[in-house]
Amino acid sequence: MARVGFIGLGNMGGGMAANLAKNGHDVHAFDLSEEALARARQAGCLPVADAAAAADGAEAIITMLPAGRHVAGVYTDAVFPHAAPGAVLIDCSTIDVATARQLASDAAAKGLEAVDAPVSGGIAAANGGTLTFMVGGSDAGFRRAQPFLEDMGKAVIHAGASGAGQAVKMCNNLILAGTMIATCEGFALAEKLGLDPQVFYDISSKATGQSWSMTSYCPLPGVGPESPADRDYQGGFAAALMLKDLRLAMAAAAEAGATLPLGTRATELYEAFATEHDNLDFSAIIKTAQGKA
Ligand code: NAD
Repeated sequence: MARVGFIGLGNMGGGMAANLAKNGHDVHAFDLSEEALARARQAGCLPVADAAAAADGAEAIITMLPAGRHVAGVYTDAVFPHAAPGAVLIDCSTIDVATARQLASDAAAKGLEAVDAPVSGGIAAANGGTLTFMVGGSDAGFRRAQPFLEDMGKAVIHAGASGAGQAVKMCNNLILAGTMIATCEGFALAEKLGLDPQVFYDISSKATGQSWSMTSYCPLPGVGPESPADRDYQGGFAAALMLKDLRLAMAAAAEAGATLPLGTRATELYEAFATEHDNLDFSAIIKTAQGKA
Protein backbone atom coordinates (compact mmCIF):
# COMPACT_ATOMS: atom_id res chain seq x y z
CA MET A 1 0.00 0.00 0.00
CA ALA A 2 1.25 3.43 -0.86
CA ARG A 3 1.16 7.04 0.13
CA VAL A 4 -1.08 8.89 -2.33
CA GLY A 5 -1.53 12.65 -2.66
CA PHE A 6 -5.06 13.48 -3.85
CA ILE A 7 -5.96 17.03 -4.95
CA GLY A 8 -9.58 17.92 -5.77
CA LEU A 9 -12.19 16.25 -3.57
CA GLY A 10 -15.39 17.41 -5.30
CA ASN A 11 -18.30 15.35 -6.61
CA MET A 12 -15.96 12.88 -8.31
CA GLY A 13 -12.67 13.20 -6.39
CA GLY A 14 -14.32 12.76 -2.98
CA GLY A 15 -15.51 9.24 -3.79
CA MET A 16 -12.31 8.33 -5.63
CA ALA A 17 -10.08 9.34 -2.70
CA ALA A 18 -12.38 7.43 -0.33
CA ASN A 19 -11.97 4.27 -2.44
CA LEU A 20 -8.18 4.57 -2.34
CA ALA A 21 -8.33 4.85 1.46
CA LYS A 22 -10.75 1.89 1.62
CA ASN A 23 -8.21 -0.12 -0.39
CA GLY A 24 -5.57 0.56 2.27
CA HIS A 25 -3.66 3.52 0.79
CA ASP A 26 -2.43 6.36 2.99
CA VAL A 27 -4.27 9.20 1.25
CA HIS A 28 -3.08 12.77 1.92
CA ALA A 29 -5.96 14.79 0.55
CA PHE A 30 -6.41 18.47 -0.30
CA ASP A 31 -9.22 20.67 -1.60
CA LEU A 32 -9.89 24.41 -1.34
CA SER A 33 -13.24 23.57 0.29
CA GLU A 34 -13.34 22.91 4.04
CA GLU A 35 -16.49 20.82 3.58
CA ALA A 36 -14.75 18.57 1.09
CA LEU A 37 -11.81 18.16 3.48
CA ALA A 38 -14.17 17.19 6.33
CA ARG A 39 -15.86 14.57 4.12
CA ALA A 40 -12.44 13.20 3.14
CA ARG A 41 -11.47 12.83 6.81
CA GLN A 42 -14.69 10.87 7.47
CA ALA A 43 -13.85 8.64 4.52
CA GLY A 44 -10.48 7.68 6.00
CA CYS A 45 -8.18 10.18 4.23
CA LEU A 46 -5.78 12.56 5.98
CA PRO A 47 -6.72 16.16 5.10
CA VAL A 48 -3.62 18.33 4.58
CA ALA A 49 -3.07 22.11 4.55
CA ASP A 50 -2.30 22.62 0.87
CA ALA A 51 -1.60 20.93 -2.45
CA ALA A 52 2.15 20.96 -1.75
CA ALA A 53 1.61 18.94 1.43
CA ALA A 54 -0.47 16.42 -0.53
CA ALA A 55 2.33 16.05 -3.08
CA ASP A 56 5.16 15.79 -0.55
CA GLY A 57 6.51 12.25 -0.24
CA ALA A 58 3.68 10.66 -2.28
CA GLU A 59 4.26 7.69 -4.59
CA ALA A 60 1.32 8.79 -6.71
CA ILE A 61 -0.18 12.28 -7.02
CA ILE A 62 -3.72 12.27 -8.34
CA THR A 63 -5.65 15.38 -9.44
CA MET A 64 -9.43 15.61 -10.06
CA LEU A 65 -10.03 19.28 -10.81
CA PRO A 66 -12.57 21.30 -12.82
CA ALA A 67 -10.52 22.26 -15.91
CA GLY A 68 -7.09 22.53 -17.56
CA ARG A 69 -6.19 25.86 -15.98
CA HIS A 70 -6.73 24.44 -12.46
CA VAL A 71 -4.58 21.38 -13.25
CA ALA A 72 -1.80 23.48 -14.82
CA GLY A 73 -1.85 25.84 -11.81
CA VAL A 74 -1.66 23.03 -9.25
CA TYR A 75 1.10 21.23 -11.21
CA THR A 76 3.19 24.41 -11.53
CA ASP A 77 2.72 25.68 -7.97
CA ALA A 78 2.67 22.46 -5.96
CA VAL A 79 3.14 19.19 -7.82
CA PHE A 80 6.33 19.88 -9.82
CA PRO A 81 8.19 21.59 -6.95
CA HIS A 82 7.17 18.96 -4.36
CA ALA A 83 6.86 15.61 -6.16
CA ALA A 84 9.35 13.04 -4.91
CA PRO A 85 11.72 11.61 -7.53
CA GLY A 86 9.97 8.60 -9.04
CA ALA A 87 6.45 9.74 -8.18
CA VAL A 88 3.80 9.09 -10.83
CA LEU A 89 1.46 12.01 -11.64
CA ILE A 90 -2.08 11.01 -12.62
CA ASP A 91 -4.54 13.64 -13.79
CA CYS A 92 -8.09 12.25 -13.87
CA SER A 93 -9.77 15.59 -14.69
CA THR A 94 -11.30 16.18 -18.13
CA ILE A 95 -9.05 18.79 -19.76
CA ASP A 96 -7.82 19.82 -23.22
CA VAL A 97 -5.35 17.62 -25.07
CA ALA A 98 -2.77 20.40 -25.47
CA THR A 99 -2.50 21.04 -21.70
CA ALA A 100 -2.34 17.29 -20.97
CA ARG A 101 0.55 16.89 -23.44
CA GLN A 102 2.34 19.99 -22.14
CA LEU A 103 2.13 18.77 -18.52
CA ALA A 104 3.46 15.34 -19.50
CA SER A 105 6.43 16.87 -21.31
CA ASP A 106 7.12 19.30 -18.42
CA ALA A 107 7.00 16.29 -16.06
CA ALA A 108 9.40 14.31 -18.26
CA ALA A 109 11.83 17.26 -18.25
CA LYS A 110 11.84 17.00 -14.45
CA GLY A 111 12.34 13.22 -14.53
CA LEU A 112 8.73 12.52 -13.53
CA GLU A 113 6.20 10.24 -15.24
CA ALA A 114 2.78 11.83 -15.90
CA VAL A 115 -0.35 10.31 -17.43
CA ASP A 116 -3.75 11.73 -18.37
CA ALA A 117 -6.48 9.41 -17.10
CA PRO A 118 -9.94 10.96 -17.58
CA VAL A 119 -12.95 8.91 -16.57
CA SER A 120 -16.17 7.62 -18.00
CA GLY A 121 -18.92 7.22 -15.39
CA GLY A 122 -20.49 9.79 -13.11
CA ILE A 123 -20.71 10.43 -9.38
CA ALA A 124 -22.28 7.04 -8.63
CA ALA A 125 -19.41 5.25 -10.41
CA ALA A 126 -16.86 7.42 -8.57
CA ASN A 127 -18.45 6.50 -5.23
CA GLY A 128 -18.88 2.85 -6.17
CA GLY A 129 -15.35 2.41 -7.54
CA THR A 130 -16.68 1.43 -10.97
CA LEU A 131 -15.19 4.16 -13.17
CA THR A 132 -13.58 3.45 -16.54
CA PHE A 133 -10.19 5.16 -16.99
CA MET A 134 -8.77 5.95 -20.44
CA VAL A 135 -5.08 6.55 -20.02
CA GLY A 136 -2.64 8.52 -22.15
CA GLY A 137 1.09 8.17 -21.52
CA SER A 138 4.11 5.93 -21.94
CA ASP A 139 3.98 2.17 -21.27
CA ALA A 140 6.01 2.76 -18.10
CA GLY A 141 3.67 5.54 -16.93
CA PHE A 142 0.63 3.37 -17.61
CA ARG A 143 2.08 0.45 -15.62
CA ARG A 144 2.87 2.76 -12.68
CA ALA A 145 -0.61 4.36 -12.67
CA GLN A 146 -2.60 1.17 -13.30
CA PRO A 147 -2.75 -0.28 -9.73
CA PHE A 148 -3.96 3.05 -8.30
CA LEU A 149 -6.59 3.43 -11.01
CA GLU A 150 -7.75 -0.17 -10.52
CA ASP A 151 -8.52 0.68 -6.90
CA MET A 152 -10.98 3.33 -8.12
CA GLY A 153 -12.50 1.71 -11.19
CA LYS A 154 -13.68 -1.35 -13.05
CA ALA A 155 -11.67 -0.83 -16.25
CA VAL A 156 -8.29 0.81 -16.94
CA ILE A 157 -7.42 1.08 -20.63
CA HIS A 158 -4.20 2.35 -22.20
CA ALA A 159 -5.37 4.63 -25.03
CA GLY A 160 -1.95 5.64 -26.38
CA ALA A 161 0.67 8.37 -25.85
CA SER A 162 0.19 11.50 -23.70
CA GLY A 163 -3.13 13.23 -24.41
CA ALA A 164 -4.71 10.07 -25.89
CA GLY A 165 -6.89 9.55 -22.80
CA GLN A 166 -8.33 13.05 -23.18
CA ALA A 167 -8.71 12.58 -26.95
CA VAL A 168 -10.72 9.35 -26.48
CA LYS A 169 -12.88 10.98 -23.81
CA MET A 170 -13.84 13.95 -25.99
CA CYS A 171 -14.48 11.88 -29.14
CA ASN A 172 -16.64 9.49 -27.10
CA ASN A 173 -18.67 12.33 -25.59
CA LEU A 174 -19.03 13.98 -29.01
CA ILE A 175 -20.73 10.77 -30.19
CA LEU A 176 -22.79 10.62 -26.99
CA ALA A 177 -24.09 14.19 -27.45
CA GLY A 178 -25.05 13.41 -31.05
CA THR A 179 -26.85 10.16 -30.28
CA MET A 180 -28.65 11.73 -27.33
CA ILE A 181 -29.94 14.68 -29.37
CA ALA A 182 -30.95 12.36 -32.25
CA THR A 183 -32.76 10.04 -29.82
CA CYS A 184 -34.59 13.01 -28.28
CA GLU A 185 -35.65 14.26 -31.70
CA GLY A 186 -36.85 10.76 -32.65
CA PHE A 187 -39.03 10.55 -29.54
CA ALA A 188 -40.32 14.12 -30.02
CA LEU A 189 -41.34 13.44 -33.63
CA ALA A 190 -42.86 10.06 -32.68
CA GLU A 191 -45.02 11.88 -30.13
CA LYS A 192 -46.13 14.50 -32.70
CA LEU A 193 -47.01 11.74 -35.14
CA GLY A 194 -49.27 10.18 -32.51
CA LEU A 195 -47.14 7.09 -31.79
CA ASP A 196 -47.25 5.38 -28.41
CA PRO A 197 -43.74 6.12 -27.02
CA GLN A 198 -43.48 2.63 -25.52
CA VAL A 199 -44.31 1.00 -28.85
CA PHE A 200 -41.85 3.28 -30.63
CA TYR A 201 -39.18 2.33 -28.05
CA ASP A 202 -39.94 -1.40 -28.37
CA ILE A 203 -39.43 -1.24 -32.13
CA SER A 204 -36.59 1.28 -32.46
CA SER A 205 -34.58 -0.25 -29.60
CA LYS A 206 -34.49 -3.48 -31.62
CA ALA A 207 -33.99 -1.72 -34.95
CA THR A 208 -31.28 0.58 -36.29
CA GLY A 209 -32.28 3.55 -34.10
CA GLN A 210 -30.80 1.71 -31.14
CA SER A 211 -27.94 3.30 -29.21
CA TRP A 212 -26.73 3.56 -25.60
CA SER A 213 -28.65 6.85 -25.37
CA MET A 214 -31.86 4.97 -26.14
CA THR A 215 -31.51 1.62 -24.41
CA SER A 216 -29.37 2.45 -21.36
CA TYR A 217 -30.25 6.09 -20.73
CA CYS A 218 -33.61 6.73 -22.37
CA PRO A 219 -34.40 10.48 -22.26
CA LEU A 220 -38.18 9.93 -21.99
CA PRO A 221 -39.61 9.18 -18.50
CA GLY A 222 -41.36 5.84 -18.05
CA VAL A 223 -39.75 4.25 -21.10
CA GLY A 224 -36.74 1.91 -21.08
CA PRO A 225 -34.64 1.13 -18.00
CA GLU A 226 -34.61 3.57 -15.08
CA SER A 227 -32.64 6.69 -16.01
CA PRO A 228 -32.35 10.35 -14.87
CA ALA A 229 -35.50 11.06 -16.96
CA ASP A 230 -37.42 9.08 -14.31
CA ARG A 231 -36.02 11.35 -11.57
CA ASP A 232 -36.98 14.62 -13.22
CA TYR A 233 -33.50 14.73 -14.80
CA GLN A 234 -31.76 15.12 -11.42
CA GLY A 235 -28.35 13.51 -10.84
CA GLY A 236 -26.57 11.79 -13.73
CA PHE A 237 -24.28 13.77 -16.04
CA ALA A 238 -25.06 17.51 -15.92
CA ALA A 239 -25.80 19.37 -19.17
CA ALA A 240 -23.08 21.87 -18.15
CA LEU A 241 -20.49 19.06 -18.12
CA MET A 242 -21.63 17.80 -21.53
CA LEU A 243 -21.26 21.36 -22.82
CA LYS A 244 -17.76 21.55 -21.33
CA ASP A 245 -16.76 18.31 -23.11
CA LEU A 246 -18.28 19.45 -26.42
CA ARG A 247 -16.33 22.71 -26.23
CA LEU A 248 -13.13 20.72 -25.62
CA ALA A 249 -13.93 18.53 -28.63
CA MET A 250 -14.65 21.55 -30.85
CA ALA A 251 -11.42 23.26 -29.75
CA ALA A 252 -9.47 20.08 -30.51
CA ALA A 253 -11.24 19.82 -33.90
CA ALA A 254 -10.30 23.41 -34.78
CA GLU A 255 -6.69 22.73 -33.83
CA ALA A 256 -6.60 19.48 -35.82
CA GLY A 257 -8.40 20.96 -38.85
CA ALA A 258 -11.42 18.62 -38.52
CA THR A 259 -14.86 19.85 -39.65
CA LEU A 260 -17.70 18.65 -37.41
CA PRO A 261 -21.05 20.13 -38.50
CA LEU A 262 -23.06 17.91 -36.15
CA GLY A 263 -20.68 18.64 -33.27
CA THR A 264 -21.02 22.37 -33.98
CA ARG A 265 -24.82 22.16 -33.85
CA ALA A 266 -24.80 19.93 -30.75
CA THR A 267 -22.60 22.51 -29.01
CA GLU A 268 -25.01 25.31 -29.95
CA LEU A 269 -27.98 23.30 -28.66
CA TYR A 270 -26.28 22.52 -25.33
CA GLU A 271 -25.12 26.14 -25.03
CA ALA A 272 -28.72 27.36 -25.37
CA PHE A 273 -30.03 24.62 -23.05
CA ALA A 274 -27.39 24.97 -20.33
CA THR A 275 -27.92 28.71 -19.88
CA GLU A 276 -31.15 27.85 -18.05
CA HIS A 277 -30.80 24.19 -17.12
CA ASP A 278 -27.10 23.61 -16.47
CA ASN A 279 -27.73 21.34 -13.47
CA LEU A 280 -30.21 19.04 -15.21
CA ASP A 281 -28.96 15.75 -16.65
CA PHE A 282 -27.84 16.09 -20.29
CA SER A 283 -30.74 13.87 -21.47
CA ALA A 284 -33.12 16.69 -20.45
CA ILE A 285 -32.21 18.23 -23.84
CA ILE A 286 -35.36 16.35 -24.94
CA LYS A 287 -37.16 19.48 -23.66
CA THR A 288 -35.56 21.39 -26.57
CA ALA A 289 -36.76 18.80 -29.08
CA GLN A 290 -40.24 18.95 -27.53
CA GLY A 291 -40.23 22.76 -27.64
CA LYS A 292 -40.43 22.88 -23.82
CA ALA A 293 -36.92 24.13 -22.93
P1 NAD B 1 -16.34 19.49 -8.73
O1 NAD B 1 -16.46 20.93 -9.10
O2 NAD B 1 -17.41 18.84 -7.92
O3 NAD B 1 -14.95 19.25 -7.96
C1 NAD B 1 -13.77 19.93 -8.22
C2 NAD B 1 -13.09 20.20 -6.89
O4 NAD B 1 -11.82 20.80 -7.12
C3 NAD B 1 -13.87 21.16 -5.98
O5 NAD B 1 -14.11 20.54 -4.73
C4 NAD B 1 -12.94 22.37 -5.85
O6 NAD B 1 -13.00 22.97 -4.57
C5 NAD B 1 -11.60 21.73 -6.09
N1 NAD B 1 -10.56 22.65 -6.52
C6 NAD B 1 -10.61 23.60 -7.50
N2 NAD B 1 -9.41 24.23 -7.60
C7 NAD B 1 -8.60 23.66 -6.68
C8 NAD B 1 -7.24 23.86 -6.30
N3 NAD B 1 -6.49 24.80 -6.89
N4 NAD B 1 -6.74 23.09 -5.31
C9 NAD B 1 -7.49 22.15 -4.71
N5 NAD B 1 -8.78 21.90 -5.03
C10 NAD B 1 -9.32 22.66 -5.99
O7 NAD B 1 -16.14 18.72 -10.11
P2 NAD B 1 -16.37 17.14 -10.38
O8 NAD B 1 -17.77 16.92 -10.82
O9 NAD B 1 -15.79 16.38 -9.26
O10 NAD B 1 -15.47 16.97 -11.69
C11 NAD B 1 -14.07 16.89 -11.63
C12 NAD B 1 -13.54 16.57 -13.02
O11 NAD B 1 -14.10 15.33 -13.47
C13 NAD B 1 -13.90 17.62 -14.07
O12 NAD B 1 -12.79 17.81 -14.91
C14 NAD B 1 -15.08 17.00 -14.80
O13 NAD B 1 -15.20 17.45 -16.14
C15 NAD B 1 -14.73 15.52 -14.72
N6 NAD B 1 -15.88 14.59 -14.78
C16 NAD B 1 -16.98 14.82 -14.02
C17 NAD B 1 -18.05 13.91 -14.09
C18 NAD B 1 -19.31 14.12 -13.26
O14 NAD B 1 -20.30 13.41 -13.49
N7 NAD B 1 -19.32 15.00 -12.28
C19 NAD B 1 -17.97 12.80 -14.93
C20 NAD B 1 -16.81 12.59 -15.68
C21 NAD B 1 -15.77 13.50 -15.59
